[in-house]
Amino acid sequence: MIEPSIKEHILPWIDPEKVIIPTAIVLHWWEEPISKGDIEFLESLWAERQLASQFAVLTDGTIYRLTPHENSYGRHAKCANNSAIGIEIQGLGSEDLDNNPIQFNAVVSLTAYLKRKYEIEDEFRVEHEGDDEATHFYGITSHKNVDVYCSNANGKTDVHDEYLARVIEEV
Ligand SMILES: [Zn+2]
Repeated sequence: MIEPSIKEHILPWIDPEKVIIPTAIVLHWWEEPISKGDIEFLESLWAERQLASQFAVLTDGTIYRLTPHENSYGRHAKCANNSAIGIEIQGLGSEDLDNNPIQFNAVVSLTAYLKRKYEIEDEFRVEHEGDDEATHFYGITSHKNVDVYCSNANGKTDVHDEYLARVIEEV
């Protein structure tokens, strides 16, 4: 198992004692223009609501771990937080992500590493849908795919299906 080069930028509000058993990987994009900034900007976006994904991948391919442990609990995808590691990909949307092979390769190497380490299945599936606390997710997927199973789903669009399919093909 090749561990990619990962920098740390630990968000101070994450409880180091609270960990999950990850069975899914959820891909996100930032929904913000790249020009607004990188990791410090992401932290400022999340500080008030104390949100967190476990990882972020910048446009230059730099990978950051944002939580004390790879499997720390983070609030990145509502009802999937108990089962999923989140990867936030810097970019406003599909156009930013589609035109960046360096960032794509970093996302693939991180996803492949996590998949092997935690023995995460390829196929996306959901157990106990209906009750948020009891819902459990498996596989490599996207925020938009898990959000529809959460109560108060709010129409997430990240990440687009083509990008997710390309990542799954490579890992
Ligand atoms: Zn998201």
